[in-house]
Amino acid sequence: MTNRAFKTGESRDQANLLPPRIEDYVGPDNPVRAIESFVCALDLAKLGFGHADRGAEAMGQPPYNPADLLKLYLYGYINQVRSSRRLEREACRNLELIWLLKNLRPGYRTIANFRKENWKALKAANRGFVLLVRELGLVGGAVVAIDGSFFHGDASKASIFTRKRLAEQVARLDLEIDAYGKSLEDNDATEAMQPNSGGRDDGGSGDGADIGAKVAALMARRSRAQADLDRLEASGETQLSLTDPDARLLVKGGQGVAGYNVQAVVDDKHKLIVASEVVNDSSDVNQLHAMAKAAKEALGAEALQVLADEGYYSSTELKACEEDGITAYVPPSTGNGVLEKAGRFSLKNFSYDGAADAYTCPAGQLLRPMEGRWTNTSGRVEIRYASRTKICRACPLRTRCLTPKASQRTIRRWEHEDVLERHRARMEGAGDLMRRRSAIVEHPFGTLKCRAGYRHFLVRGFDKVRGEWSLMALCYNFTRVLNILGFEGFAACMAKVFRLLSHALRADPSCIPRPLETSRANMPVWLSI
Ligand code: SF4
Repeated sequence: MTNRAFKTGESRDQANLLPPRIEDYVGPDNPVRAIESFVCALDLAKLGFGHADRGAEAMGQPPYNPADLLKLYLYGYINQVRSSRRLEREACRNLELIWLLKNLRPGYRTIANFRKENWKALKAANRGFVLLVRELGLVGGAVVAIDGSFFHGDASKASIFTRKRLAEQVARLDLEIDAYGKSLEDNDATEAMQPNSGGRDDGGSGDGADIGAKVAALMARRSRAQADLDRLEASGETQLSLTDPDARLLVKGGQGVAGYNVQAVVDDKHKLIVASEVVNDSSDVNQLHAMAKAAKEALGAEALQVLADEGYYSSTELKACEEDGITAYVPPSTGNGVLEKAGRFSLKNFSYDGAADAYTCPAGQLLRPMEGRWTNTSGRVEIRYASRTKICRACPLRTRCLTPKASQRTIRRWEHEDVLERHRARMEGAGDLMRRRSAIVEHPFGTLKCRAGYRHFLVRGFDKVRGEWSLMALCYNFTRVLNILGFEGFAACMAKVFRLLSHALRADPSCIPRPLETSRANMPVWLSI
């Protein structure tokens, strides 16, 4: 045995340092083979990928096959390599990528353009994968949780302006211009007072010329700020983003982000993302119904239980969910509790009797509906219920019920208040469900942000950002399915589904297995049979 200080590698002059076949670069159960089988099973032309339907007879230099570029992106996003330049480098030196791309080496511009130009197809591929996991029985389809998370856009906070910020900028520039104007006047006055100034021409050099240039620069900045302010007011938007036109300053819980709010609906069974969307509003309050409906359609469910946090509480959203067969569990907004803090009776102290169509106050008196309807600032039509002035005047509880100037108590009731009453009753027994909510929905965001480090988008504008989010969601689901099933299980399930679907197409439609029947119409979208 030879004594050595350290372990030594192979000689670089050795002829066969690497296996002679590219096929030997990756093992038989390497996850990269799962990417290969998945992408090869997609009908890229139907999903809308560019060049996917190009025939061999087409003239000119052939482009890269979109299947190869999609494989490259899936591999990259699964392995935390997202930038087109890094993907270009990895394609040349990473043995798994060399195997996956058969030693193709696309340039970074080609790679970047693929992600920009195929955002719609990436969204379709992401939706297609949800259909696949549905067929594999990996989603429960009964309980889902919704949440939103802020992601940084490719824009800085300084590049996004509100009306207030632009108006303040214009006012500040006005002050600076005035101050410099005054300096110019003082300068002229000083020069006029100097005894020899009249006959000497110094070419305008000195403080006066410097100040003149600074004033001109300030005037230019002011006119740009004013133009931005005019543009913002004409657009009807609340913010103007100069770098990424769709990114916004989002604020929640005291933290601000220049970017987007990603909404995700996660299935309870294996915490897979079944529906998602990218919006640029800080608030989640208008997202409940749209997201729940998208999840219900993706899952093909007749009924669905949806869990969300307090930020999603909206009476109109709850009503829309109920009308679409979606049972929503959202903690009611607690409000600021002004009445309770002041020791006065709040709505909780008044009970409604549907049969009598009246509220009963803490003193046991009835509040009856008034004539007419009122529309509040958010567009809800309300009915007002009022107590009797004569009774309130003699009531021993009036100091806890009425303001000093009021002679009677009125309560406003939404015309669809029964929706909220059913929701309130539901929430009383929903403690266990609500405790599961955060464990379900925070899993994907935690995985994507903390483990993969995806906290920001690399592209700009809604379309491209939505395409990049689809890649992130697809890779999250793909990795999760591989982890759940293992490589062998994944390969076996894919083969089984392909076999069943192929058989189903050839056979009498009545022979189609029940679980596959619902998705038969979707088959061409995500599978080439
Ligand atoms: S003040 Fe009128 S509404 Fe209020 S508790 Fe007394 S009787 Fe009822």
